[in-house]
Amino acid sequence: MAGRAHAAGASAGEVFRLIRQGHAATRSDIGRLTGLSRTAVTLRVTQLLDKGLVVERADGGSTGGRPPVRLRFHADGGIVLAAALGASRAQLAVCDLAGTVLDETEFGVDLAEGPDVLLDTAVKHLDQLLAESGRPREALWGVGVSVPNAIDIATGTSLSPAVQPGWGDVAVADHFGTRFGVPVRVDNDVNVLALAEHRRHPEVDDLLVIKASTGIGAGLIMRGRLQRGALGAAGELGHTKVAGADDVACSCGNTGCLEAVAGGRALATVCTELGRPATDAFGVAELVRAGDPEALRQVRQAGRRIGEVIAGAVNLLNPALIVVGGDLAHAYEPLVAGMREVIYQRATATATRSLRIEPSEMHARAGVGACATLILDDVLSRRAVDTLLS
Ligand SMILES: [Zn+2]
Repeated sequence: MAGRAHAAGASAGEVFRLIRQGHAATRSDIGRLTGLSRTAVTLRVTQLLDKGLVVERADGGSTGGRPPVRLRFHADGGIVLAAALGASRAQLAVCDLAGTVLDETEFGVDLAEGPDVLLDTAVKHLDQLLAESGRPREALWGVGVSVPNAIDIATGTSLSPAVQPGWGDVAVADHFGTRFGVPVRVDNDVNVLALAEHRRHPEVDDLLVIKASTGIGAGLIMRGRLQRGALGAAGELGHTKVAGADDVACSCGNTGCLEAVAGGRALATVCTELGRPATDAFGVAELVRAGDPEALRQVRQAGRRIGEVIAGAVNLLNPALIVVGGDLAHAYEPLVAGMREVIYQRATATATRSLRIEPSEMHARAGVGACATLILDDVLSRRAVDTLLS
């Protein structure tokens, strides 16, 4: 790709990419990296300056003569909205063009109320965040959304009614697009997290991202690319049957699913029955963090259960890195101790020899940060910038 851009003369979008990713900070950097003439560099930089995508400032304190002009990605040149719609709660944010959260809010979700209630509530909150940001509508570049469902990426429509009845074939992207009139990108919550984690670990080509929350899912990056499977349903680990749970009913209508015994709702129910009230995965993790030994025991056991299923995935796929996120990962130590225990016992020595397991560093803001990344990678892509400037 870079070679082709070079042969045709790097476009303004390509020059923008170099500046945004920090590879080029001056006009001469750009000339050196692209082979463009000085005139061509100036032309492209001027276009980017005019659109507010790049800013320049003179570097003071040099040795006399003309100080070099530094070019910088203008993160403050616009905003995006991010909506991480989970099975228990929705996190919403307004972010700058670097994906930094400027303001955020959240609300509780009851999926049984149906998609329209959730989507309308999300739009209402986003409207409010946008108004409070003090930015004009024109500053809005796009909306990134994640949902706890499989998604048809081309249309932004939910595919699978597996989690809740009424959630199949919901036009999620249209819902936000109609309201805000900007590009909208929608993906499954775990895929969004996987893409964001891959951005943090660009050197890792084979990456498995586990989200342990109300649901339990996996996002898979192989050879540097997100794998969605034939129908976009790859990674539904939570609905794999585990041993000794045949009598436990799952929200999907089946019995004995991993999620039904190790998901946030199951753990919250057990903790509540044991006199430690919790409503969801986050509440259970909070109990652990407060030092509750019974909640800790439950989370460690959940980790073992999750490890049973992941051990199979490790043998099948041989990832170099497993990143663990989601609300339950707030109790990271016991959760991953349980996972490790089983993975290293059950997966092959070769597959685990150099396997690393790490927490998602995106923490509480993982959802909205990843949603911002999803839309920013789209609207600030080389192609999108070239289209904008043409
Ligand atoms: Zn299930």
